[in-house]
Amino acid sequence: MTLFHCANCEHPLTGDLQESQAVEAGALLSDRHIAHPRVTQRSYTVNHDATLFILHPDDVPGTALHPDPGRRNGCCGLDGRDGPNLVCARCHAEVATKESDCWTDNLVALMAAAVVSDAGSPL
Ligand SMILES: [Zn+2]
Ligand SMILES: [Zn+2]
Repeated sequence: MTLFHCANCEHPLTGDLQESQAVEAGALLSDRHIAHPRVTQRSYTVNHDATLFILHPDDVPGTALHPDPGRRNGCCGLDGRDGPNLVCARCHAEVATKESDCWTDNLVALMAAAVVSDAGSPL
């Protein structure tokens, strides 16, 4: 199990997560609904160049929306195209980008450079 913390203040950003190799097929863009999450809840996957950890959108309780409305564009949700739009809930460092709009994926991408992981205690 893995817990991600803010690299700046060590505030926990996520719950305990299980690394998952398989990324579920994303919903197609022709579907006008919010896409199905790319990963199942309580799991995460690493992107191709290891700069991002891809999480389920409900697995980042320690984050808050970016205070700058210019980062929070989107028509039905957040499109994530204007830079990181989630910050650490404690120190407000930029830590992640959430995509949750009708034409984007539905995921949270934690920036590897902004977080530290804690392997947690084995069960
Ligand atoms: Zn939309
Ligand atoms: Zn922080």
